[in-house]
Amino acid sequence: MTLRRSSFVVDCGSGTEEGIEKRHYFNTLSRKFISIPDQLETIASRAKIDGKLMESLKKGRWLTSASAYSDEMSEAIRLITASGANSSTLNVIFTVTTRCNLNCSYCFQNNTHRQDANNEAFAALPAFIKREIAVRPAIKKVRLSLFGGEPLLMESRCLDLLRSVKRECSIVPVEFEAGIVTNGLGASPGFWNVAAGLGLKNVQITIDGAEKVHDSFRQLNGGGTYRELLSIYSRLSQDFKVGLKYNLNRKSRECFAEFAADLNARGFNKNNTRIVLEAVKAIEYNEAQQYYFQAFSTEAADAYISCADDALRLGWQVSLAHVFQPPCMYTQENPSTILIRPDGKVSRCISVFNDDPDFTVGNIAASDFSLANYGVGEIIENNAVKCKAAECPYFPVCMTGCPSFKKMKLKTIKAALCGRSYIERMVQGLFRLKIERVAEYDKLDF
Ligand code: SF4
Ligand code: SF4
Repeated sequence: MTLRRSSFVVDCGSGTEEGIEKRHYFNTLSRKFISIPDQLETIASRAKIDGKLMESLKKGRWLTSASAYSDEMSEAIRLITASGANSSTLNVIFTVTTRCNLNCSYCFQNNTHRQDANNEAFAALPAFIKREIAVRPAIKKVRLSLFGGEPLLMESRCLDLLRSVKRECSIVPVEFEAGIVTNGLGASPGFWNVAAGLGLKNVQITIDGAEKVHDSFRQLNGGGTYRELLSIYSRLSQDFKVGLKYNLNRKSRECFAEFAADLNARGFNKNNTRIVLEAVKAIEYNEAQQYYFQAFSTEAADAYISCADDALRLGWQVSLAHVFQPPCMYTQENPSTILIRPDGKVSRCISVFNDDPDFTVGNIAASDFSLANYGVGEIIENNAVKCKAAECPYFPVCMTGCPSFKKMKLKTIKAALCGRSYIERMVQGLFRLKIERVAEYDKLDF
């Protein structure tokens, strides 16, 4: 069998490690780095080679027997689109309400009609989950995320929902756990204990910068929220897994180190706390958009890397899960993550709340609704004509670009929106972190 270097392997150059010259590579399909003494091309061309090494390089998709880039692309599309159906976890994001007690200018919900989830949607959720488990034998766990708006505005409905889905999961049985995306302000004193007893394990909050910058974006009744949030969440981090989603923009980037130092001073539990970085895309309805990075710009990539570097230096766990998206829920057939809107309709994108037929696929209250095969692989492959001609190594972390952003910018999902210079810059930056932050690098996920 003839082997060659995979088209999805990026050469990151060479360097000396413990006195030995090494070649460094990044695999865009597995998102892993490798450092080896020889070039992959040299290893692949050797007539005789250690069988174990060859096997592991093939298994890790560093080497391939595919004869053409197009075969590798088809295989990548097959793997990525099937990842939802093969997932052992079903992530259900239920929008309890799109109302909120804050008034952030960049919120995507500003573009939607603010409303609470209707009774039909609440009532339909347990049965919908039961039906999905029945037709998807791979599912061993259901993770319910209470989403908004601000879900705590409907605290008792949140608890009812946890109770009913937990009960349904225990009957099947599959494992159940829950999370909440909240600004954390206004929970009644007993809420967190009761919710923990009903399976709530993960809590995510959004932060817009260190105190001064955050308070200029996120206010309650005319006052800042930073100090109160840090106080609530340092307490919660003793018992819950806490995600601190840090919105990156030109202002918040400058004060990130101050924010990370504040977490240290406030006594957050480092084992339970993860900083999730996200460069929010500039969108038309956001009044503060001059502070935001252009989507998929090298400026955004540099901000991700410099903040991740600061966070790792201070010993924090960091998530860069938003950096390479897609792949996402949209690029999965039978997705493992679904978003349910307040009217019970299912969206294939975390930020599309309108009735756009490219994203809206039915209602959980309809007894015959099931997560169908959407033909997404075909759409992506048709969009990728230029990617194929260029034999782009970044295809698995791009899939021709974010469909919801394309819809906004190009008015269609049936085209590519290329962010290659952003992706290249990100990979270079991640490689630098891998080399320079050896002891801390495993605290980073992306
Ligand atoms: S389509 Fe874009 S915004 Fe929506 S989930 Fe995918 S990557 Fe995220
Ligand atoms: S859209 Fe650009 S970055 Fe994405 S796969 Fe195609 S050529 Fe590569």
